[in-house]
Amino acid sequence: MSRPARALLDAGALKHNLQQARLHAKTSRVMAVVKANGYGHGLAWVARTLGESADAFGVSSVEEAMQLRQAGVTRPICLLEGFFSTDDLSLLSRERLEPVIHHDGQIKALAVASKDLQLTVWLKVDTGMHRLGYQPATALNALNQLRVIPAVTNIRLMSHFARAEFPGDGVTRSQINDFANVCRNLGLEKSIANSAGILAWPSSHLDWVRPGIMLYGASPLREKDAASLGLKPVMTLESALIAVHARKKGDALGYGGDWYCPEDMLVGVAAIGYGDGYPRHAPPGTPVLVNGRRVTSVGRVSMDMIMLDLRSLPQAKVGDPVVLWGRGLPVEEVAESAGTLSYELLCHVTARIPRVVV
Ligand SMILES: *Cc1c(COP(=O)(O)O)cnc(C)c1O
Repeated sequence: MSRPARALLDAGALKHNLQQARLHAKTSRVMAVVKANGYGHGLAWVARTLGESADAFGVSSVEEAMQLRQAGVTRPICLLEGFFSTDDLSLLSRERLEPVIHHDGQIKALAVASKDLQLTVWLKVDTGMHRLGYQPATALNALNQLRVIPAVTNIRLMSHFARAEFPGDGVTRSQINDFANVCRNLGLEKSIANSAGILAWPSSHLDWVRPGIMLYGASPLREKDAASLGLKPVMTLESALIAVHARKKGDALGYGGDWYCPEDMLVGVAAIGYGDGYPRHAPPGTPVLVNGRRVTSVGRVSMDMIMLDLRSLPQAKVGDPVVLWGRGLPVEEVAESAGTLSYELLCHVTARIPRVVV
């Protein structure tokens, strides 16, 4: 028998979540963001499952883009960090990879590229994220340079939100306004909305939306959970109990020996740990499902195992199913407990966890 730790992937949920993005942004085209191995779900699987229902895909590198091409994906692919080397430009043109352009070095490289290339590029405007892109005051100058480059056959405009997860936030409001001001009267396609923009900022939808986390069924919003937003979890990380012990009051559990049983109690051991991507920083008290019932973790997370307080489940036994997140236990809740984000938990699930499509 193989180790019971695995990630179940729900193809129906993935397709459903993309449809939710479409329902929110009815007139926008959808660039499905699948970077970082499809947020840990498997790049090729995500792209193939979404297939033609996405209008384009977004990734971080040529390597990720080529994995998609090798998986048979024919849609355009946006390189969200741009290109890193002039040598890649002919490949970009041939494979219809659309780089984000965010600094002058890239524009210079395009200007001396072969006139036979045909590139769609996304000019990045920094409206407040202060990570990549041209300031609104310099964006038009960059645009005018791009417009006379023969290899650049199509230009679109992109910006990115810094804190759209806070509905009504003033920074997001001004990002939307500043981007609209830059784009005014240019007649170019434009895009600013990530998942939070799609769900909480209708005025940000524009020509293209770029959902990431919502496709995987996690809520990007602070105040609303995924279910109330109509999203379904795609990944369920599960394992099983591999030991159940009756411990005595005062027994110290696990590494560091700093968690003591407050009374005689049943303690379970589940085969999952930080070597699988379960967060090592998840403190005692982090929720876990055993037999579909909520219990909490105790002691420290080990590389391959965690321990569980089974006082509420006196019948629990070896082999009982354990869910770390997914169906019945939102990944956001585990992330909150571990002091991180659903994004990080999903994309940290390691290669030794088999992805099983259900
Ligand atoms: C990752 C990313 C997205 C998707 O963001 P979510 O919050 O996961 O929806 C959209 N646009 C850019 C530029 C990104 O890097």
